[in-house]
Amino acid sequence: MDGILQYPWGDDRRYHSYTHFLRQRFGGRLLKIPVDAGFSCPNRDSTLGTGGCTYCLNAAFNPSYCGRNKSITEQLEEGKSFYRRRNRKIAGYLAYFQAFSNTYAPVGQLQNLYEEALRVHDIQGIVIATRPDCLGEEVLDYLQALSEKTCLCVEIGIESCCDETLRHIRRGHDFHCTQEAFRQLHARGIECGGHLIFGLPGENPDIWLEDIRLINSLPLQMLKFHQLQIIRGTEMEREHQSHPGAFYPLPFDTYIDFITTYISRLRPDIAIERLAGAVPSRYPATAGWQGIRYDAVVKAVEQRLAEIDSHQGKHFSP
Ligand code: SF4
Repeated sequence: MDGILQYPWGDDRRYHSYTHFLRQRFGGRLLKIPVDAGFSCPNRDSTLGTGGCTYCLNAAFNPSYCGRNKSITEQLEEGKSFYRRRNRKIAGYLAYFQAFSNTYAPVGQLQNLYEEALRVHDIQGIVIATRPDCLGEEVLDYLQALSEKTCLCVEIGIESCCDETLRHIRRGHDFHCTQEAFRQLHARGIECGGHLIFGLPGENPDIWLEDIRLINSLPLQMLKFHQLQIIRGTEMEREHQSHPGAFYPLPFDTYIDFITTYISRLRPDIAIERLAGAVPSRYPATAGWQGIRYDAVVKAVEQRLAEIDSHQGKHFSP
């Protein structure tokens, strides 16, 4: 191996990166283009509630070229131009249905939107972000059929494994619902991933490291980590102002220490898509890690894993 340490996922990076996972699958660099397909969410349209999850402001998570006034094709073409200006060697793109709950509509409407995306040149597959309670039988049947024809990944907002936290942040579902969604997707052969938030009120690193056994037991192919970013104008901003002690502080160095320990205990076959989140500087209500770019996060994680001579799964216990 010419002195290069190769990990089970096939490269010398100390964690199994989603970029590498896609490169192995598609033979080149693949980029995700977020689209806003105009969906809503049962936690906002009064089915479960109207205020949404206490931390949610979708505008903070959407790039500027996304917009529900544009068609899926227009958004994808603009996304492709945006990326092409920055990256020369791109093997293709995945359409990322990101905003709100992207399976929350009748199947016929889902079919029109997803299949429009798949007709766009160079779109090699789709990633659909949704809530675990928005996957009824009919939707699952359709997704199963679609996954047999194209590259499809369903990304579930897990956020926390703790029912008390899920209640507190008004998610409108419990962790059992999340487990059930993964079980159903997996049973149908549909690739799936998850999204976690570290720093929700009432939680701390001991809880996250204890709950990793629940995360490791899910049939996940990929995972995203986000440190809590408190967004201006949200219910969570008000809670943070009135009860700051409920939030475990995660300055950059603390987060890097925590996330490297977490990665060391994470199942090695799970590809990590994000190590931390970033929203445009106009959105956060608190100072956070302003000015620290994502590539600095990646570098710090890699450095820390090297310092402690660890890698993803080194301390994983099945
Ligand atoms: S489920 Fe998603 S879109 Fe709906 S309120 Fe919560 S974070 Fe926002």
